[in-house]
Amino acid sequence: MVNRAHDKGRMAEGKNRAVFLDRDGTINVEKGYVHKIEDFEFIPGVPQAVRLLRDAGFLVIVVTNQSGVARGYYPLGAVHTLHRHMDAELAKHGAAVDAYYICPHHPEGEEQGYSMACGCRKPHPGMLMEAAKDFSIDLASSYMIGDHASDVEAAVRAGCRPVFVTTGHGRDESARVPEGVPRFGSLPEAVRAIVGGIAWENPETKD
Ligand SMILES: [Mg+2]
Ligand SMILES: [Zn+2]
Repeated sequence: MVNRAHDKGRMAEGKNRAVFLDRDGTINVEKGYVHKIEDFEFIPGVPQAVRLLRDAGFLVIVVTNQSGVARGYYPLGAVHTLHRHMDAELAKHGAAVDAYYICPHHPEGEEQGYSMACGCRKPHPGMLMEAAKDFSIDLASSYMIGDHASDVEAAVRAGCRPVFVTTGHGRDESARVPEGVPRFGSLPEAVRAIVGGIAWENPETKD
């Protein structure tokens, strides 16, 4: 399920580089099934970091599991509304997201149409693969930043470079993340490393 901010990134030829971002616990403070505007709180420095990525020529694409939709906690429309709020807040910092990919599914949900095993719920790589096709993205030179082992796994399965952050659930997830995956204290720290040219030598996580 894709919700594009605009189609600027959909280029005919030529490969684009992207940084995929998990949302909860990576962009915004983890509070458990965030779906209300009043609960949305950027992790400090995130809007500036998003701007930095786009200034450096990366597409910025959010890939978020929202099983709260399948579980009946909130409708998909609430997710879109929250993302429009996020867009408005980012714009205040001269930042923007190129697209949001949302997985509203869960195999054990309650809501008809969303309660299913799917290929997009991370650690499945479906959202990254779809975005790669939609935006002509070279996955091998792109990054995925997240606070869960499932974010890292999705990145590896998609063939892009995983980056782990210890915000959100990161501390609890840390032991499940393979050695060699770059780790940072927050998204802004990870972004500074990516833009600065991260040393990338963990081929064992690429298979
Ligand atoms: Mg997360
Ligand atoms: Zn899904």
